Amino acid sequence: MQWHGEGSGTVDLPFAGPGDLHLHSDWSDGTEPPADVMLAAHREGLRCVALTDHDTTEGWAEAAEAATSLGMTFLPGMELSARHEWRSVHVLGYLFDPDDARIRALTSRIRDSRLTRARTMTDRISRDYDVEWADIVAQTVDGATVGRPHIADALVAKGLVRDRGEAFAGILHPRSDYYVDLYAPDPVTAVAAIAGAGGVPIIAHPAGRAGLLPVDLTERMLEAGLAGFELGHRENVEPALGRLRRLVEREDLIVTGSSDYHGVGKPNVPGENTTSVAMIARIIERGRGSSPVFPS
Ligand code: AMP
Ligand code: ZN
Ligand code: FE
Ligand code: FE
Repeated sequence: MQWHGEGSGTVDLPFAGPGDLHLHSDWSDGTEPPADVMLAAHREGLRCVALTDHDTTEGWAEAAEAATSLGMTFLPGMELSARHEWRSVHVLGYLFDPDDARIRALTSRIRDSRLTRARTMTDRISRDYDVEWADIVAQTVDGATVGRPHIADALVAKGLVRDRGEAFAGILHPRSDYYVDLYAPDPVTAVAAIAGAGGVPIIAHPAGRAGLLPVDLTERMLEAGLAGFELGHRENVEPALGRLRRLVEREDLIVTGSSDYHGVGKPNVPGENTTSVAMIARIIERGRGSSPVFPS
């Protein structure tokens, strides 16, 4: 698979309907391999998709092959972990160069920290519950980006909680005694890294219950190359969403909508939110670190 792109200029897209640009496989905390994720998206009628696993690009080749053989256009993507003060910020990146040195250093540091953090959290949890590191490993594909969802799956397998939701509401909650922070860059660094690798940075679920990021931080992200916001996401809520809509219109930013599908790990269904063809064209025109893969 040749990923290196140079920007496409004016694009003539081989699909007419909207796309879903936020899907997770078992290379991070989705529950299915990339090919099955593409199959699920195709079943919902989608014709343009992106794979956006947390802090890894490992699933791109399998996903591109599966998507295009089903007649779908594939955009390589990732959801990069960042943090502002106490809150986690997720930066979606599309069409960046997966071999860019800065991206590679950043994602490998985050993945290493996630592993250490998951082990520490498991040690803490194991003092009160019958679960050990091997149980988490058993829930994780070799080489995948480890996250709290894998600990949740181990707790479910052990019959200690019903589902991921119950685990996140209790044992894995940030205010729980078992919680440990992971290393994550600040959002401006994350945006700059994706833009510097030729990619298109978009803030994922930017209007969740925690509210909007501060205005000055948003301005610095825009200066660092932020391209837009994922306004179509089930976790976004008013009134923050309305304020972002006005910002996006005023600054003529890119707007996406996506499902954030995680297989059976979340109720989210491919296509429940979508991104318009016009916006997909803007992303493709702007991305120059890797290329979209069109069906042959
Ligand atoms: P982590 O990055 O390891 O701190 O875990 C956060 C990830 O867990 C997010 O990216 C979500 O995809 C997932 N997650 C958060 N809350 C829930 C929930 N209530 N149910 C299932 N998955 C969740
Ligand atoms: Zn996730
Ligand atoms: Fe996210
Ligand atoms: Fe996500």
